[in-house]
Amino acid sequence: MQVEQMRLDGNAAGGMLRELFARDVTAALATCGGCGKVGPVGALLEYGHGMGVVLRCPSCDTVMVRLVHAPGWLRLDVSGTSVLAIPDTISVS
Ligand SMILES: [Zn+2]
Repeated sequence: MQVEQMRLDGNAAGGMLRELFARDVTAALATCGGCGKVGPVGALLEYGHGMGVVLRCPSCDTVMVRLVHAPGWLRLDVSGTSVLAIPDTISVS
């Protein structure tokens, strides 16, 4: 299978991210730790695999998010994301 055939956009990771954040994170703004590009999580490029997802920057290909199911754990690595700004719809009045 070609890498391009495995690639989806970040919206495909929405269900798994909702497990962690209990809200839709695809509209959150993520800042790339590699190039500084700011954009919605839903616009990142997803590379799915059996245990979880990898989301890459569409500009520089930096791995921004790794989310993996491991026995007894849901592991999140956002070391490639310098800022994740999640819309706060609860405290808005
Ligand atoms: Zn980047």
